[in-house]
Parts: sequence; C-alpha cells; structure tokens
Amino acid sequence: MVAVEKKSKPRVGFFGMTSCKGCYFQFLLLGKKLIDIFDSLEIEHFWMLKEDNELGEFDIAIMDGAVSNKDNAEFVRKVREKSRYLIAYGTCACFGGIPALRNDVSGFHEKVYGKPIKLKPLQNVDPLDMHVKVDYHMVGCPVNEQELLNVLRDLLLGKRPGEPDYPVCVDCKKAGIRCLFKDGIPCMGPVTIGGCGAPCPASRSPCDGCRGKLPDANWGSEYDLMLEHGLTKDHIIQKFAKYARIAKPGRVKGK
Ligand code: SF4
Ligand code: SF4
Repeated sequence: MVAVEKKSKPRVGFFGMTSCKGCYFQFLLLGKKLIDIFDSLEIEHFWMLKEDNELGEFDIAIMDGAVSNKDNAEFVRKVREKSRYLIAYGTCACFGGIPALRNDVSGFHEKVYGKPIKLKPLQNVDPLDMHVKVDYHMVGCPVNEQELLNVLRDLLLGKRPGEPDYPVCVDCKKAGIRCLFKDGIPCMGPVTIGGCGAPCPASRSPCDGCRGKLPDANWGSEYDLMLEHGLTKDHIIQKFAKYARIAKPGRVKGK
C-alpha cells in the first residue's frame, strides 16, 4: 500500500542528481497551482526554491536525474533511507536518459573536463533502480507537470498511483490526432510509454520516445515500419537508444 499516511501535511523533498534540471523547472511551471500544493504539503527540501535545505525525514522524496558518479550513488542511498516513498522523477531518473548516452563513449571525461578528474564518475550512468528501491517512475523529458499533480493527489488520498502501461498512440487516439505514419512520417509512439497527451504528434512532429521504452512493446514491428519509412538501421538503433538505453529498469508494469 502507499507509504504516505493521512496526517498533517506530508513532508516532501525535491532532489537532483545528473540531469539538465528541466524536470525541476516543470514543477515551477505549475504557477498558481503551486499555491494549492503549498497548502497541502510541506516542501522541506528544494534547492531552487529555498536556501535552507536539510536532509531530514521525508514522506515523499522526488528525485530528478541519473546516477553518474559516486557522490550521486551515495546521495540517493541517503535520501532513500530517510524517505518513505521515492519517486524517480523524469526519464534520466527512470532510464538514465540523455546523460546515459555517454555509456558507450570511452575517455569521455578526460576529453570534456581534462585531468585530473574530480567527479569520481561511475563506469556507467544508471537509472535510480540500479541503486535503490523506487516506488513510482514518473517518465518524461521533461515530466508532464499535470502527471506530478495527479500522483501527489493520489498519495494525499492514500491511493497507490498507477504508472501508465500503454503507448503514446493511445494518447493520439483519445485526442483524435491523425497518425503521422499515414502521412509517411516515422514515429516512436507505438513503443513509447504514453500519458503525455501526445503533444508532439498533435503539432505534426513525430514522438521521439522521450518517455522511455514501453515494456512488452512490439519492437520488431516498429523496426520494420521505420525501415519501410526510409530510416537506416543505424538511425533506428540511435532512436531506440536515445532516451532509454537501459531497456528495463525495475519498472513494474501496471504498478
Ligand atoms: S502519430 Fe505516432 S504516436 Fe500518434 S498514433 Fe501515430 S504512431 Fe502513434
Ligand atoms: S509525444 Fe513522445 S516525444 Fe513527445 S512528449 Fe510524448 S513521449 Fe515525449
């Protein structure tokens, strides 16, 4: 059952590791809706909002970013120990995201930062699941702020929030969006975790897969479709790997 108990104002912490911090900003984009959030939750830790941030005990920890160095690994373990419910916040936290593109590049740190390296990088950039237990995976690059509100609302009501287990194509169908494949445009929607509302196909841009790989999607069929629509094998592999190199983190379908 959900870890957050009904009591006066749950204590919430926002934390960040290796990412562009775009998901952090999504929270701030909630604008006036933030007032309601501040009425219902105690935001105890948020680097972009507060100067005094202490690592106390949390009912809900919202962790943005991937684990790319030893400091990250230590920090996420510390936050996990102090938190009852941990949300992996954004595609970097759920799958490694864009930072994990460096996993196949050798000598990367020396080239970018020179020597000596002070970052204590790990061999690979990892999703949170590879280091700690995650209670909810909120995918997206960046996350959809409405989804965050829905999850927080469910937790406040004592409900376990469900993770989307359908492709972006379902969002298209709900919104009455004409499929891009019908216009000859290859799209990652059939193999990507839905729930974003398909903003890219709505503006006639193909889904780029930013919400990560849908478990049990028909990859072979998507691959064949992409080939039929003129993409090369290398291009398709790059597309498949862009946001979610780690095919299956600890994400539990339908959890
Ligand atoms: S446009 Fe993309 S996401 Fe939408 S239905 Fe077609 S393939 Fe699926
Ligand atoms: S349509 Fe695809 S690329 Fe666009 S927001 Fe949704 S998952 Fe991300």
